[in-house]
Amino acid sequence: MMAGKTQKTDFFSYKSGQLAKGCELCVQGRKSVLFITGICQNGCYYCPISDAKKNKDVIYINEVPVEQDNLANTEEMIEKIAQEIRLCSSMGIGITGGDPLARIGRTTDVICGLKKRFGQEFHIHLYTPLVLVDEKKLSVLSSAGLDEIRFHPDVAEKKLWPRLKLAKKHSWDIGIEIPAIPGKEKETKELIDYAGPHIKFLNLNELELADNSFSKLSEMGFKPKDSQSYAAAGSMELAMELLIYCENKDLNIHLCTAKLKDAVQMAKRIRLRARNVALPTDRITADGMLVRGAAYLSWLVPGKGYRQRIKDEKTREKALAELDAMAEKLKARISGIVVDEDKLRLLTSKKTAEAMKNRIKDAGGVPAIVEEYPTYDGFEVEIDFI
Ligand code: SF4
Repeated sequence: MMAGKTQKTDFFSYKSGQLAKGCELCVQGRKSVLFITGICQNGCYYCPISDAKKNKDVIYINEVPVEQDNLANTEEMIEKIAQEIRLCSSMGIGITGGDPLARIGRTTDVICGLKKRFGQEFHIHLYTPLVLVDEKKLSVLSSAGLDEIRFHPDVAEKKLWPRLKLAKKHSWDIGIEIPAIPGKEKETKELIDYAGPHIKFLNLNELELADNSFSKLSEMGFKPKDSQSYAAAGSMELAMELLIYCENKDLNIHLCTAKLKDAVQMAKRIRLRARNVALPTDRITADGMLVRGAAYLSWLVPGKGYRQRIKDEKTREKALAELDAMAEKLKARISGIVVDEDKLRLLTSKKTAEAMKNRIKDAGGVPAIVEEYPTYDGFEVEIDFI
């Protein structure tokens, strides 16, 4: 039963009051996620970051790695980030990590660079624990144009909580975002009571068990709520209780579920990206997947080791020469066939690949119908060799 001001939203979450601007855009799929560094001193026992990113100074915009070594300067780095934002038709970004304050110069450069490219209305929010928060860093973030700051206080580190107040000097929206950790009800209520007068919004996240070696949740006895999910049993129940606890406080609250992140935030962003990256011959499914006809080289079909092999320089050179020759042979019969330089194959429509499969075989190709994500990694959902 839903009590008082708490409402169920249309996107698998609950709220009381208004959503933060960052969340409003996020639930429309209009926010890209910028992972600015994996460095973080906070050491949360529930840290969800993958082993590949944790404590590594790496940058990702959505799923796209921004390889700093290959970039000549900061402008190139910002442009690489901007390209992915354009491909997703995003109207803002959320800067996460790691702790963005551990790389404050990079973070402010990116904020300034994106505001310059996309305008002041391009909305930027940022997540940070309190460990590195000080007046100077908050001032540079505010001057760079950060619109919304979301603190991630540790419920056990009370001595850091007063740092929240430092943010009030600036004209941005201030919130806290914390997971609802079963067994931490009392401490979480204390934090909410303390932070309430200093923030505009509270975001509660459903706690998730991470598939990494840093999270201690499993060994502490936390269990997933069902076999389909990484969400921790008991977290939603505590979050709902906290929502009700907060109803008489003058606070905007959003309870963000694990399902919202997958089924709404990611799914909508993927659908927007599909529109921008689809070839004229692709069909876009209702889920935003691309359905396409493909012709692979007989010695380079998807399977074990394929992802590694398509990155190897010698393989690429040989494959591209053979694909050009195959495309030349097929062009007379198949209009609009193109070489996919990323995945080293030819692409056409599903219909054409089905109709021309024998000609593709005669030209030395392996015809297939592929359904895949429109994301940078183009993860294949299904490959049907025909
Ligand atoms: S603050 Fe975030 S990145 Fe840092 S340890 Fe905690 S959950 Fe991980």
